[in-house]
Amino acid sequence: MKEDSQARTVPVLVPTPVDRPFSYAVPEGMSVAPGSIVRVPIGPREVAAVVWDGEGETVDARKLRPISAVFDCPPLADTSRRFVDWVANYTMTSPGMVARMFLRAPAALDPERPQEGLRFAGGEPERMTSARKRVLELAGDGMAWTRSGLAHAAGVSLTVIDGLAAQGIFEQVLLPPRPVVAKPEPDFAAPELTDDQASAAKELRRRVAEGSFSVTLIDGVTGSGKTETYFEAIAEAVSRGKQVLILMPEIALTQAFLERFQDRFGAPPAEWHSDVSPRMRERVWRQVAEGSVQVVAGARSALFLPFSDLGLIVVDEEHDAAYKQEDRVFYNARDMAVVRGNLGGFPVMLASATPSVETRVNADSGRYRSVALPARFAEAALPELEAVDLRRSPPARGGFLSPVLIAALGETVARGEQSLLFLNRRGYAPLTLCRVCGHRFQCPDCSSWLVEHRFRGQLLCHHCGHHEPRPEACPECGTFDHLVACGPGIERIAEEVVGHFPEARTIVLSSDIVGGVRRLRLEFEAIAKGEADIVIGTQLVAKGHNFPGITLVGVIDADIGLSNGDPRAAERTFQLLSQVTGRAGRTGRRSRGLIQTYQPDHPVMRALVSGDAESFYEREIAERERASMPPFGRLAAIVVSAATRTEAESHARALRRAAPRSDFISILGPAEAPLALLAGRHRYRLLLHGARQSNPQQFLRALLEAAPKPRGSVRVQVDIDPQSFL
Ligand code: ADP
Ligand code: ZN
Repeated sequence: MKEDSQARTVPVLVPTPVDRPFSYAVPEGMSVAPGSIVRVPIGPREVAAVVWDGEGETVDARKLRPISAVFDCPPLADTSRRFVDWVANYTMTSPGMVARMFLRAPAALDPERPQEGLRFAGGEPERMTSARKRVLELAGDGMAWTRSGLAHAAGVSLTVIDGLAAQGIFEQVLLPPRPVVAKPEPDFAAPELTDDQASAAKELRRRVAEGSFSVTLIDGVTGSGKTETYFEAIAEAVSRGKQVLILMPEIALTQAFLERFQDRFGAPPAEWHSDVSPRMRERVWRQVAEGSVQVVAGARSALFLPFSDLGLIVVDEEHDAAYKQEDRVFYNARDMAVVRGNLGGFPVMLASATPSVETRVNADSGRYRSVALPARFAEAALPELEAVDLRRSPPARGGFLSPVLIAALGETVARGEQSLLFLNRRGYAPLTLCRVCGHRFQCPDCSSWLVEHRFRGQLLCHHCGHHEPRPEACPECGTFDHLVACGPGIERIAEEVVGHFPEARTIVLSSDIVGGVRRLRLEFEAIAKGEADIVIGTQLVAKGHNFPGITLVGVIDADIGLSNGDPRAAERTFQLLSQVTGRAGRTGRRSRGLIQTYQPDHPVMRALVSGDAESFYEREIAERERASMPPFGRLAAIVVSAATRTEAESHARALRRAAPRSDFISILGPAEAPLALLAGRHRYRLLLHGARQSNPQQFLRALLEAAPKPRGSVRVQVDIDPQSFL
């Protein structure tokens, strides 16, 4: 901030890809402070931006432009601004683009309009009816009501209210904006906890009471009561008047969670995710900023809500890859939640039945605390798991279900119980080819096969969304009726299931279901009510849903994720399959999990079947340590993309040549990306592999500084701690 004879100037961070705040003049009579949300001109436009601290980009005094207006909105808290700087610095994104994530609800910057209301003004109506009497009994004490609220409470129609108003019995008043959710009550319905849960809850409550930064892993098998237990921590924070954020990987689908929260606290949390209407998002944003919303359950972007007094973040299913955003700002919301807790000085809790190796190592080393819930709640027993060796018990020709699995399905259906078949592949078949000429259907814009979606009659690219109708004849050789589907998707499994069990009620569930989230919610409800016998689904059904009737889980292809060159392949497969098989046995009935695999001796399969997660983690951690893979080493990726392969390749090579010398960091590549063509752009990758104590950001800054600037269609994307290697 500068005070001089001419004009006071302040640094303002605008939501565009700029590295530093710009200077703006503060007009006479305007008062701003760091954090104030203001409207400023930039080029020909005006944008919402945030007054920052430190130095702004100095602008020639003649070009210095004034701030247009200050929004009537709480300023962005100091810790939120530190958070923007931190995230920008760590992810190597411009602070402007990170600040932009805080300014996603433009209309929320202006105060919500008050609601119109009525208040008893005295007097008597000309004629008293029983309906009018009921209204006056309620309103007679002078409390303000909304028109519809009063009608509803008195059990009368709106015309009764309007009739009284017309006689001057009521005066018009303005009521504060309606809260998006009621206040949660910490003691609304406190559960009776088991001994294990109670001691975990006590520990978690203590963390909240300390009111300082800490990270605690809540480690317990599915159904052990992790949610129940962290609700206690939330109750503690709420009763201390703090705000709470619960991050979830698939928030749009967690209706059951919201209901549970409401049962526990008497009110639901505010929701924040892409399926919430823009109007609702604006109200949530505003009320979070004002502090009137106390608990938010949200997807990763909720981390960038303008909390005024955040006191706890819970990251549920902390291992989930959905926490990584790979768009504009590449960040891992779980890691950034820990950062936010550190900057804000409050506890962060990470819950998972299958913690990430990173979190596990942090807990083992004592950097994170941990609480354990070793057993499932009540009589719910974990399912008995068994590997089905597909070499010994192969499916019939053209099928994907082994006789063992078919028999188990038959028994389960006969008992009137539910089964879940899991395959992480949408559509009918992952590849279509012509039996005559061998032509394979490929996306014109990506290096990937088109996936047949038979329900829709289309071939679809799962990377860019390209779709085309499935032709009758081969586009290459023109032969009719010789296209064959290769490999299974869930639609094809459904076909096979219906062939075996034509009487069974079958539901197919994946994210591309017609009807979207609403339809999914209905289907989930139907399943929970027992209205389906066999559910066939992708990972969507694996995540956190509680279907009490499921007693058989069949994994169609357990090997799918193991051979994709991802350093986390084993970990991911273990997590996913644990979660899927954990869908079974939520009630006292005996339940089974059958895992179809060609590699029954693979450590992942062994760990799953034996239920020995410990030895899996031990092995995986030792392996990572030996290879100095995260968290024992650091990774960062650079993806170069361009309109032509040559441009992408030559720029990637230039980056490599510009790399500084380092004893701690080595560079792999450039190599053509596995997904060499994506949405029409050619891609090359470089991978930085550093020792634990290395500083990849510093290295990358030096590299990018020394390298030629990308020209033409060339784009360079840095991905710190990459999760995807495609
Ligand atoms: P997790 O989060 O570990 O999967 P949950 O908290 O969802 O476990 O608990 C699993 C199921 O057991 C839920 O239906 C939950 O309501 C029930 N449950 C767990 N603990 C208790 C408890 N102490 N009292 C009543 N129900 C409980
Ligand atoms: Zn494509």
